[in-house]
Amino acid sequence: RQELKQAEKTEVANYFNGTGFDRWNRIYSESDDVNKVQRNIRIGHQKTVDDVLAWLQERGDLSAMSFCDAGCGVGSLSLPLAAMGAGSIAASDISAAMVAETKRRAADAQLDLSRLTFTTSDLESLQGCFHTVICLDVFIHYPQQAAEEMVRHLCGLTQESLLVSFAPYTPLLALLKRIGQLFPGPSKTTRAYTLREDGIIKAAMGCGFEPIRSKLNQAPFYFSRLIEFKKI
Ligand code: SAM
Repeated sequence: RQELKQAEKTEVANYFNGTGFDRWNRIYSESDDVNKVQRNIRIGHQKTVDDVLAWLQERGDLSAMSFCDAGCGVGSLSLPLAAMGAGSIAASDISAAMVAETKRRAADAQLDLSRLTFTTSDLESLQGCFHTVICLDVFIHYPQQAAEEMVRHLCGLTQESLLVSFAPYTPLLALLKRIGQLFPGPSKTTRAYTLREDGIIKAAMGCGFEPIRSKLNQAPFYFSRLIEFKKI
């Protein structure tokens, strides 16, 4: 069993409560105060969020379904999901600043706050049972074995489906990463990991889930593989 090292987790939490919060809060907003790289990350990330929302919308009425948005950031997914009428959404993040911003944005958007819960928690501490668990672009902070362990943990929290997105390992991305052209955001202060897709799929399959669809979203400086798993 390989979990993320506590020291690394503390570093990530500190980053996303400090300079990382400012950076990512701007990226995940409509602010003009972003550079070209950050603007591209925003565009790429929005594609991932839009895909998830479109896939969930295909299910029809979401009002009887419960969702867990694990590592919710500033609520880029939770908020539109609430607006789509999701029954309940448990939004959590390791960063208290991120959770507070999600809450602030939800109130600002006049969403039905009774359907949303906000918790400061790392992925490892998450408990509960949801129809669907979603974890977008958080695995960038997890090395391969820890990410696979996390997939198994998240599978244990969902009755029906799991949606995850992560930066995929490819030789080209590995090269770009080595020469420092990729992940200029997180890599400034935290490590950034790319993951082998087959390992992630095997981990979910070992828990009785199968991949039912997958999409690679890209923009310059953003690469993210989104996979939807369904319980067999
Ligand atoms: N999922 C959100 C989205 O797609 O809009 C946020 C993505 S952002 C790149 C990564 C987020 O993961 C940050 O908000 C960070 O605080 C959170 N995070 C990183 N490591 C975490 C961990 N071990 N447990 C929970 N959240 C974590």
